Amino acid sequence: MAKPLTCLRCGTALGDGPPTGRPPRYCGDLCKRLTEYEVRRLDRRLSGYEIELREELADRTAAADAWIDKLGRSRAQRIGDLRRWIKADTERLRALLGGTDDA
Ligand SMILES: [Zn+2]
Repeated sequence: MAKPLTCLRCGTALGDGPPTGRPPRYCGDLCKRLTEYEVRRLDRRLSGYEIELREELADRTAAADAWIDKLGRSRAQRIGDLRRWIKADTERLRALLGGTDDA
């Protein structure tokens, strides 16, 4: 059975939607645009995290292991944070784009 349609951004009930074709995902242009901005922000942030993670994993110098960053994190903690943030942002992106597979 289909779940009642709600705006992906604000949760406003959307009624039944059109009888045919693609169901609406947003209650209006504002929610759609806010989502587009957030998707862009997430995409930029994810790109940054991915580069950082790649560099952390590629850096084989002893100094990289010893270095504690300004947040007081070791290299292993930085890598753990980056992996967690990438996962969280990817899940948010997935939800925003309507791909929620909440089984
Ligand atoms: Zn909305």
